[in-house]
Amino acid sequence: MSETAANPFEQQQQGRPTGPLVQGYEVIIGFETHAQLSTASKIFSRASTAFGAEPNTQACAVDLALPGTLPVMNKGAVERAIRLGLALGSTIAPRSVFARKNYFYPDLPKGYQISQYEIPVVQGGTVSFYLGEEQKTVRLVRAHLEEDAGKSLHENFVGQSGIDLNRAGTPLLEIVTEPDMRSTAEAVAYAKELHKIVTWIGICDGNMQEGSFRCDANVSVRRPGQPLGTRREIKNLNSFRFMQQAIDYEIRWQIEQLEDGSRVEQATVLFDPDTGETRAMRTKEDAADYRYFPDPDLPPLAISSDWIERVRAAMPELPRAMAERYQQTHGLSAYDATQLTQSVALARYFDEAVAAGAAPKLASNWITGEIARRLNAQEIGIEAAPVSAKQLAQLIGRIADGTVSNNAARQVFDALWGGEGQEVDTVIEAKGLKQMNDSGALEAIVDEVLAKNQKNIDEYRAGKDKAFNALVGQVMKASAGKANPAQVNALLKSRLG
Ligand code: ADP
Ligand code: MG
Repeated sequence: MSETAANPFEQQQQGRPTGPLVQGYEVIIGFETHAQLSTASKIFSRASTAFGAEPNTQACAVDLALPGTLPVMNKGAVERAIRLGLALGSTIAPRSVFARKNYFYPDLPKGYQISQYEIPVVQGGTVSFYLGEEQKTVRLVRAHLEEDAGKSLHENFVGQSGIDLNRAGTPLLEIVTEPDMRSTAEAVAYAKELHKIVTWIGICDGNMQEGSFRCDANVSVRRPGQPLGTRREIKNLNSFRFMQQAIDYEIRWQIEQLEDGSRVEQATVLFDPDTGETRAMRTKEDAADYRYFPDPDLPPLAISSDWIERVRAAMPELPRAMAERYQQTHGLSAYDATQLTQSVALARYFDEAVAAGAAPKLASNWITGEIARRLNAQEIGIEAAPVSAKQLAQLIGRIADGTVSNNAARQVFDALWGGEGQEVDTVIEAKGLKQMNDSGALEAIVDEVLAKNQKNIDEYRAGKDKAFNALVGQVMKASAGKANPAQVNALLKSRLG
């Protein structure tokens, strides 16, 4: 069997709008993502799933496929699959079936992988996200439970390879989309959204370096209106940056082939970050090559509606619902609300700042502006931010009550971030940043500045707004930045008539 036969995904693509063209070609992308489920033990055994242990110290008799052992389903893995299904509006199959996927590889001691084939646990559903201003919806085909394989180690060995079976039997949820994506940017945005959801609902730690969230990108190109082109599958993308580079390269490569009059052969390819190129690993197997059949060692997986309801009751509020709530209750823009719901931790930080009395709009501005910029620059998450939500709320309070100007607040923030103090008020005091609230002193400064700047006064009276700003600037300078700009404005206006 091959894809010269009609692609089963073809029909689902009828009527979808054409995507942006690259050299006259439309790009088609579908994803298969392996999310490692955050259970303490493996999917069919009680061995630990902790990362980084000495090779082969976390593989028990079941993982080693010793004769006489039998797999026992881990309920925690099933529950996590249900959570994903509920989060994405999928159908949870009341009865799904485990199947053996047969292939030979040294890191697969049983000679088959236990997976789901004909009847997966999660069916359908969608992932929606913003690509710039535009909302995109990618349809899921399915998500199925399966076990991971072990790992071959080629480093530190001469003339031979090592096998580490610690990872064998680690629970995975493979999440498969329709080929609905039409550009690299859309594919990366999809992957980021899915990553956000699986970490948000706590089913996967999302650690991409450790392989907890790995994506396979299926890429093809076609002339608009033509049937789907032949896909190549880029395996195991474990960073968003590599994902983007790999897909971009693959698109260019395929177009070049077609322009040269060659065909694209269906293949599995790997991305090499050192060269920035994708390289064929093997020609692609078809399902028939795996001789799938239901695993006689495992009964069908039965999920009662009771169980589903219990899981539903324990689900956290999802990012989209939370963003909508922020818009409604705090009057934030859709954009700001989306920014604040990029992770549970960020949303919680915002909630804490608001609970501590910060005006929501100001808290949102600080978090999506100043704080986001610093987190990005230092490549850390909000959990590691040196300024707590409470401190931020205090600082915002001091701007609101006129103790410090915005400018001074930024200096206070800088000091807090740099660890030069804990208490907002102490830092303001120590740095002498208190705004001038003594109107007598301010009036004296204004009069002094006016006396020295007759030229500006004349220009202002002749209708030049710039001259007024120059005067404000002079007063601010003379007050060493401590004057309240609104007060300065008002005073100058009244003096100038
Ligand atoms: P396999 O597991 O053999 O890779 P699946 O049918 O499970 O096959 O998954 C196929 C994946 O490839 C899906 O994500 C699907 O959206 C995607 N896909 C199918 N056809 C195309 C195509 N012509 N171009 C891009 N992606 C495709
Ligand atoms: Mg595949």
